[in-house]
Amino acid sequence: MRLNPFDTSNIKVGSAGGGGGGRRAGGVGCGTIVIALIAALVFGVDPMETLSTIEGSSAGGQQTSQSTEMSEQELCTQNAYATETCNALSSLNTTWEQVFAEQGVSGFQQPSLNFITDAGNFNTGGCGRASSAVGPFYCPADQTIYIDTSFYQQLAQMAGDGGDFARLYVVAHEYGHHIQTVTGISAAIRSAQAQNPRQSNQLQVLMELQADCYAGVWAAKNASLIERGDFEEGMRAAASIGDDTLQRRAGQQINPHAFTHGTSQQRMNALKLGFQGDDRQCDAITQIR
Ligand SMILES: [Zn+2]
Repeated sequence: MRLNPFDTSNIKVGSAGGGGGGRRAGGVGCGTIVIALIAALVFGVDPMETLSTIEGSSAGGQQTSQSTEMSEQELCTQNAYATETCNALSSLNTTWEQVFAEQGVSGFQQPSLNFITDAGNFNTGGCGRASSAVGPFYCPADQTIYIDTSFYQQLAQMAGDGGDFARLYVVAHEYGHHIQTVTGISAAIRSAQAQNPRQSNQLQVLMELQADCYAGVWAAKNASLIERGDFEEGMRAAASIGDDTLQRRAGQQINPHAFTHGTSQQRMNALKLGFQGDDRQCDAITQIR
């Protein structure tokens, strides 16, 4: 995707790293799982082990001093992946602000992006403590996307370049969770889950598929920037992180009750639906009767 250069007046970028003790991460959500599972695919480790490492790694506050404050410009140009992420964020902000404005909703709140600058544990603004190993995730409480760009480096080293769109899809998916937060969809799903615990997983899957769909909408609304192969890269990425595929690769029986993000086919369908460019079709995914 040929993204335009980021505009620092249109993005909110900070950093997270080091910091003292604190609560353990409570709302890490899908990002953790996605990344643990991608790690499982790429590195051949047991995703559950990765997850428990992440979950367990918050024990014991690490007393690292806060890294020196960097400007948005510096943060966004620290490496090529950071620049790509800032370019994507700038585009996502412009695109979604316009979608909301067109539907008569003013005052759209942009999410923040925090680059995780130190290895180890760090404090999020609203989701407690997290580990730099978690990879990209969205924290609804502080409306911030957290990204450690070294994840992309590892991914490229171990698995080769899956294409830029595979990476952009991750950022756009996390942004999709921000959309769900500002529209109140997240809150509605959480309350539906509380009322209906047996459907909790199913509802979680719908949330994730909707985030995939919103990622596709962003791409569709920037069709002029799409390059040959982007669509296929997105489809391949969606296919490779379906719950059924991940379970099969881990040598497990396919267990739909343990699904959190949907099957490969569902994820590809959700992204494809988004590629049609109508966010209302994505809204409909979580409409609960
Ligand atoms: Zn997600």
